[in-house]
Amino acid sequence: MTRLTDTLNTALKYIYPPSCPYCGEVLEASETDVCAACKPRLSYVKEPTCFKCGCEIEDGTEELCADCRRVEHGFVRGFSAFNYVDPADKACAAFKYRNGREYAAYFAGEIIKKHGKHIKEIAPEVLVPVPIHKRKLNKRGYNQAELLARELSRITGIPVDTELIIRKVNTPPQKKYDPVKRANNVKTAFISSEKIVQYKSAMLVDDIYTTGATIDACTAALKGMGIEKTYFVSICIGKGY
Ligand SMILES: [Zn+2]
Ligand SMILES: [Zn+2]
Repeated sequence: MTRLTDTLNTALKYIYPPSCPYCGEVLEASETDVCAACKPRLSYVKEPTCFKCGCEIEDGTEELCADCRRVEHGFVRGFSAFNYVDPADKACAAFKYRNGREYAAYFAGEIIKKHGKHIKEIAPEVLVPVPIHKRKLNKRGYNQAELLARELSRITGIPVDTELIIRKVNTPPQKKYDPVKRANNVKTAFISSEKIVQYKSAMLVDDIYTTGATIDACTAALKGMGIEKTYFVSICIGKGY
């Protein structure tokens, strides 16, 4: 780093001191990314996991979780860093709604620490952030999934393409609906763009995976462009049923 960027970084840290992604408290000098109070409370996804969606399962003799046995998902496989419980749920909300752009690098780092090996093995040709509707983008100023994808790209070298899928319907927040309604809500929300692509594999990037309805809808849109194999990575995975 040059001396100028060093000085700028020091100045920025002074004006915007780094804060904990979970509780928002300003970090002490000894805390690198997460504060000492939140760190032991993090709930990382632990083995055994579902071979499809990657959620924790209790019975290690089963390959798939109850949800993946019931629903045939279009994607090949997915990977998440955390369970969608306290405090990761609050951090995802801050990342999305309270201008938590600064946390993208931290979340990408956690995904890579946990699943970098899988991503390397799969070697998807492109990272595709799940798009948000134009109106939402204008209001929020950023798409948290895109910020995450850009950070993942910086680490892995896999390019990001934000022009493959378009969100044509501004869907209401999914948590208001039961799983069936959610699937119906998003089924037609995404369309493939007119872009001609050569990709055969892609990895969708999103902040939270719950029922898989959004990832399935995006996978279908990518399939419409000739992309045979779609995977996903997300920060958190919750129980979708
Ligand atoms: Zn904290
Ligand atoms: Zn599953």
